[in-house]
Order: sequence, then structure tokens, then C-alpha cells
Amino acid sequence: RLALQQFLDARLPEPQPRAGRSRLLVLAGPTAVGKGTVAAHIRDNHPEIMLSVSATTRAPRPGEVDGEHYYFVDDAEFDRLIAEGELLEWATVHNRHRYGTPKAPIEAALAAGRTVLLEIDLQGARQVRAAAPDATLVFLLPPSWDELVDRLVGRGTEDAEERARRLRTARVELASQGEFDYRVVNDTVARAADEVAALAD
Ligand code: 5GP
Repeated sequence: RLALQQFLDARLPEPQPRAGRSRLLVLAGPTAVGKGTVAAHIRDNHPEIMLSVSATTRAPRPGEVDGEHYYFVDDAEFDRLIAEGELLEWATVHNRHRYGTPKAPIEAALAAGRTVLLEIDLQGARQVRAAAPDATLVFLLPPSWDELVDRLVGRGTEDAEERARRLRTARVELASQGEFDYRVVNDTVARAADEVAALAD
């Protein structure tokens, strides 16, 4: 944990923004850093940005609406989406459920000149980088490691084993920030969301 805090605090060189980036924004970052909250804030406050709706094989949580938060599909349907080439990327997240980004709505929105935001995991971000090298990759950072742990525990939706699994994942994920075009610290949701949204200007 100490090593990780030092890693977080280390003054790494800022990645250089690349010229000619597209309006495809990818928001990734370690587990429980608050990607979903930042993405929801952008959806509610930046109507010019289209938030992609992913397909997933996990069950809806209370309050989640099919077609709005996710497309909730079964394994057979997810297999079909893969086989038909309908996903821009997909991944098994936390060794459990599959999540993927439907390709068609994104292509239509980009063709219409809109900005599209994907809130996906690191494996997915890497696939987008490979499939669309001009995508803009944004890594959301916690203000500190302790803050990340607090958020993970505070959310209270996972059991101890699942929390431990997610923390291990988070350590590995934090080490990948150098692959991204931008890094944004999630100190407050509104500020981080505005910083991400401004990258599309
Ligand atoms: P949750 O089940 O808590 O909604 O999401 C779990 C994880 O899945 C989050 O880290 C989220 O970023 C990731 N995720 C959501 N949709 C997608 C997707 O379409 N593709 C990939 N690769 N990851 C996704």
C-alpha cells in the first residue's frame, strides 16, 4: 500500500496530448475511482456529449433501467453480438460478467459530428485504442489510494471477497495510466466531469 501511494504521488511526466484526436472519448481508470459518477454527471450536464450505453450479462441493480444504464442481455445474446461483429470492444470484468460497447450508435453519432463518451474498463480502453487509434483516452485518478479504498468500501454493494478482488484489480489498473492521453483527478465530480467534457472542445 505504501509503495502504491508513492507511485500515485510520483511526479510522472504528463502524457502528451496527441494531435488529430477524434471525438471518441474513452473514460477509464481503476475500480471505484468514480468513473460511473463522472460519466453520469457528464450525461446530465453536457447534452452535447452522447454517453454510450453498454451491453452486459450482469443483472440490473435496483433502479437501473434497461436501455438507459445498460442493455441487459443473456449469454446467448452477448455471444450473438460478438459473432455478428456488433461490438467495438468487449471484456469480462472482475472475472465475472461480460460488458461490451455497441458499435453502430457510436459510428452514427461520430459521423454526425457528435462527441461520444465511453465509460469502460481498461481492457476495453486498450481494444478501443487498437481499433480506433485516434480515440482520446482519459484516465481518471483517485486523489489518493486511501480515498480509493474508502470509496470501494463505502459503496457497500460488494462482499469482502469481491472488494479484495477489486482492490487487486485497481492496483494493476493504476499502473497503466501512462498509456493514456490525459489524466484527470476525481477530486470533485463536477470539476472532473467538466475537465473531461472540455477535452471534446
Ligand atoms: P458495473 O457492473 O459496476 O456497472 O461496472 C463494472 C465495470 O464494467 C466498470 O469498471 C465499467 O467501467 C465496466 N464497463 C461498463 N461497460 C463496459 C463496456 O462496455 N466495456 C468494457 N470493457 N467495460 C465496461
